Amino acid sequence: MIKICHLYPELLNLYGDRGNIIAFVRRCQWRGVDVTTREANLGDPVDFSDTDFLFLGGGSDREQDLIAGDIKRRRAELRSAIENGLVVLAICGGYQLLGQYYRTGDGRVIPGLGLLDFYTEAGGKRLLGNVVIEVMLDGALVRVYGFENHSGRTFLGETEPLGKVLAGNGNNGCDGWEGARYKNVFCSYLHGPLLPKNAGLTDHLIALALKRRGLDLPLIPLDDRFEKRACKVLQDRLL
Ligand code: GLN
Repeated sequence: MIKICHLYPELLNLYGDRGNIIAFVRRCQWRGVDVTTREANLGDPVDFSDTDFLFLGGGSDREQDLIAGDIKRRRAELRSAIENGLVVLAICGGYQLLGQYYRTGDGRVIPGLGLLDFYTEAGGKRLLGNVVIEVMLDGALVRVYGFENHSGRTFLGETEPLGKVLAGNGNNGCDGWEGARYKNVFCSYLHGPLLPKNAGLTDHLIALALKRRGLDLPLIPLDDRFEKRACKVLQDRLL
C-alpha cells in the first residue's frame, strides 16, 4: 500500500497539477499496487512519517503567502521524513516554498522552509512556455517535458538541479538549470501536468516509494504508446 498526501490541494493546484496525483495513482493501480490519497489543507494534521509520496503543486504569490505560516509548523516533521527518504514532488510555488525564501515583485519576502538550499526572486517578465529538460534517472538521461509559467527566478546553492534545460527557461532563464533534487525530493517548475506527460519520471517516483517500503522490484511495463507519441510531438516542435 502506498500512501499519498496531497498538501494544500485547495490552494496549490495550478494548470492541472492534480493530474500528477491521478497519473501516480493510475500507474500504481494498473500494476495492482494499492494506493490511498489523503488531501490536507491549512491546519489539517499530517503524519509525514506515515506518508510515502507527498505532492505540492503550484500557486500564485497570494496562495504562497497564505501557506507560509502553516507549512512552517510542519517543518521539523517534514525535514525528518525527507531525511528518511520520503518521496516528494513539488511544483513551482510548492517548489519555491521548500527553499530559503521567495521575494515577490513588490519586495515582500515570503519565507520558505529552507529544507533545500536555494532562493527565489521575482523578475520583471514572466518565464512562460513549453520546456524540455534532460534528467538523470537511474543512470540514464531522460527527456522530461512540461510547461512553465512563473515570475520567480530560482538560484541554487548547494542543492543539485533536477535537470538541464534543452528548451525553455527553467529555474531562472540564464544558468541552464531546471528544478532541484535532494535525496528523494524532486522540485520543478514544470506544470503540464508533469507526471501524465512523463511516464518514466512517474514510474521512477513509484519505484522509489515502493523501495522505501522494502519492495525493490522492477515495475511491470505498461503500454505507454500514447505518452511516447505526445512526447515525440513536443520533441519535434521544440528541439
Ligand atoms: N508565485 C510563483 C511565481 O510566479 C509561483 C507560480 C506558480 O506556481 N506557477 O514565480
